[in-house]
Amino acid sequence: MIDIQPEDQVVFDRLKSTGRVTHSLRRLMTAQWNTCGVCDHIAFPGRPLFAGYGKDDEPLYTRACCADRLIELATPVYPHGTLQLAVPDQTPLWRYMDLAKFVALLDHKGLYFPRADTLEDRFEGAIGLASREAEWDNHYISRFRDVVEAGGPYPLVPDLTREQIEEDARRLLSETKAAARRSRDKLVSCWHANSGESEALWRLYCPPSIAGIAIQSSAAALWDATASEPTAIVGKVHYIDFRTSFASREQAIFCKRASLQHEREVRAVLENDTEEPASGRIIACDLERLIDSVVLSPFAPVWLADTVSSLIRAYGFSLPVRRSELLDAPFY
Ligand SMILES: [Zn+2]
Repeated sequence: MIDIQPEDQVVFDRLKSTGRVTHSLRRLMTAQWNTCGVCDHIAFPGRPLFAGYGKDDEPLYTRACCADRLIELATPVYPHGTLQLAVPDQTPLWRYMDLAKFVALLDHKGLYFPRADTLEDRFEGAIGLASREAEWDNHYISRFRDVVEAGGPYPLVPDLTREQIEEDARRLLSETKAAARRSRDKLVSCWHANSGESEALWRLYCPPSIAGIAIQSSAAALWDATASEPTAIVGKVHYIDFRTSFASREQAIFCKRASLQHEREVRAVLENDTEEPASGRIIACDLERLIDSVVLSPFAPVWLADTVSSLIRAYGFSLPVRRSELLDAPFY
């Protein structure tokens, strides 16, 4: 429920939303989520935060308490009930891949973002289990019935018949579901958050038959790599039990099945073209800033080290290459 108090209204009366959300503002909104970026106080349930800009176009995200600093309001934000996506800047991120994908990365001079519905997990962007769809529909249809009955989209048409209310509620449901399905059009780059290497992920993505490579980066570097994209969000994936829960309707792209928890995924997500969604896009970025190091699979053949180093040089980059620390010898 939205709850606008007089001090919020003062902000709305003073500033009209411009809808201009830059990459740095979105990054700040994601980091602060439900807290005032100036005084760090938490937003009250239902109350808005204000995302915009202060002096010299400085991005600001505030509650009403500190909103006097705002010169431009980009958009109000109602964080209550949304997912906390923030990942600390220094979080180490890994991407495991085979040699072909690594060559593509060098060749593209950037990251490839495939469309979510082309990824392997058929639950990408899913709201829930098909066996529970009727339950979800019924929940929303009854909410929409209340909205329509209370005047909803047609405040000037009183005394709607039962049939009209039902028809409107069903239309709202199908529009809601169509909007939710479009989250499968979003473009995604998937990463694994971990302070060190994961033997499980080496085995999963780079089994012994594959010349495997991992690139190591950080959450801050991934934000920086997407700086040309104002819709980019770098956020952590929430793992949910679809037997008992549904994904967030607007943030389904950040929800996955609990059975994938071992992936500890952080993803960068971009909006796709709404008319003609591309199957993927390359986002050019400074690979030397994005990649801290290139790590070779513990199962890789010995020749891989020289080949990878020559490849990097041939493409004109300078990136540190190291062997897997899983090869370090024990003592007994
Ligand atoms: Zn404040």
